Amino acid sequence: MAFEGLSERLQKVFSALKGKGKLSDEDIRKVMREVRMALLEADVNFDVVKKFVKTVRERALGAEVMESLTPSQQVIKIVDEELTKLMGQEAVPLNKSPHIPTIIMMVGLQGAGKTTTAGKLANYLKDKEKARPLFIAGDVYRPAAVEQLKTIGQQLDVPVYDEGTEHNPVDIVRNGLKVADENKNDYVIIDTAGRLEIDQQLMDELTKIKALAEPNEILFVADSMTGQVAAKVAQGFDQQLDITGVVLTKLDGDTRGGAALSIRSVTGKPIKFIGQGEKLDQLDVFHPDRMANRILG
Ligand code: GDP
Repeated sequence: MAFEGLSERLQKVFSALKGKGKLSDEDIRKVMREVRMALLEADVNFDVVKKFVKTVRERALGAEVMESLTPSQQVIKIVDEELTKLMGQEAVPLNKSPHIPTIIMMVGLQGAGKTTTAGKLANYLKDKEKARPLFIAGDVYRPAAVEQLKTIGQQLDVPVYDEGTEHNPVDIVRNGLKVADENKNDYVIIDTAGRLEIDQQLMDELTKIKALAEPNEILFVADSMTGQVAAKVAQGFDQQLDITGVVLTKLDGDTRGGAALSIRSVTGKPIKFIGQGEKLDQLDVFHPDRMANRILG
């Protein structure tokens, strides 16, 4: 289960506090040392942990806890609030274009879940807004990706613009956008190529697609199983492409928490959706407060 280790650790830390009347400075410091360890073990970025612990410690040593009749509950409340803040405070909706189509470009490393998430997003938009999206198959380097997108298109009854794997993705996107205009699609979801790691050739191609398509959203798809590495990779994509949001995938697995807790702080960009399974309806809007509650148990 996601966050299992982190949840258990934090619950243990806080249960040791419960029942204590007043808390001493030393009690708070001890708790914060434990929280720090728990976050580092969950693979949260070091600088993020340092800043988080400092903020919580300062608040916990302040009057709201020290003068409270239920100090341990106050400390838990502060951790809850700061975790929520760390993950972005509030759900952030998709950017929309004032005129159709709204263009969404999916980017990320190979295997992160781009193509699957493109399908999930189309399903979500159809379901919530009765939208009529069009996919553009721009991942021409992984031959199976075009077929995968076509299969998803058939399942969802969403058209896919593709030119196989022989053509240049920038041309494919240009032609696909023309088709979307002709068909008056309200959303265009562009699937792009990934690599095993960031490489300049890929970034140049994505930059060209961005310049051509002028997307309203550039969603970085992050595999939460890769922990804080996901945050570093997101930062790399953001520096080159100025991403507008993040989708965290595979939160149904036994991810430790590093990606969910680091990405917002490292990139400054909101996590907009989370993927919680391989099925096309397993996408949810990301709510930082609910995630904090899930972590704290
Ligand atoms: P791409 O290379 O980035 O396009 O990645 P794919 O969309 O092909 O996904 C890679 C693998 O991850 C596939 O087996 C997907 O079924 C799986 N996957 C994607 N999202 C999720 C998720 O939220 N949960 C789980 N368990 N698997 C996922």
